[in-house]
Amino acid sequence: MADCIFCKIANKEIPSTVVYEDDQVIAFKDLEPQAPVHVLVIPKKHVASIAALKSEDKELAGHILCEVIPKIAKEQGVTDSGFRVVANTGAEGGQTVNHLHFHLLGGRSMQWPPG
Ligand code: AMP
Ligand code: ZN
Repeated sequence: MADCIFCKIANKEIPSTVVYEDDQVIAFKDLEPQAPVHVLVIPKKHVASIAALKSEDKELAGHILCEVIPKIAKEQGVTDSGFRVVANTGAEGGQTVNHLHFHLLGGRSMQWPPG
């Protein structure tokens, strides 16, 4: 989608520090890390948010959650220590980039509830 910063990252029109890539998904380091490990995992195709996912996206969503995120967590060394996966959705959810992304955060102790 034109003017979508994460589509541009997926298309390599904007540089990023890529930690994982396959035909459907790309993952890169967050520009403003909130933890020692802070990776954004996105589908290459434009989906605005979890709220915009459709039944046809089941395989993609399952791939991200069942395969890609656990693999990156392992590679980043946070599987045993624990990590957090966050998908801010919509205005009150705190979403600022309207292209579905999962924050993978780890390497420090997390607080709950979130602010
Ligand atoms: P959210 O607020 O959940 O929509 O998260 C958007 C995230 O994207 C924030 O954590 C930003 O720091 C991050 N971000 C924005 N632009 C870039 C970029 N060009 N490269 C990497 N991360 C980015
Ligand atoms: Zn996009």
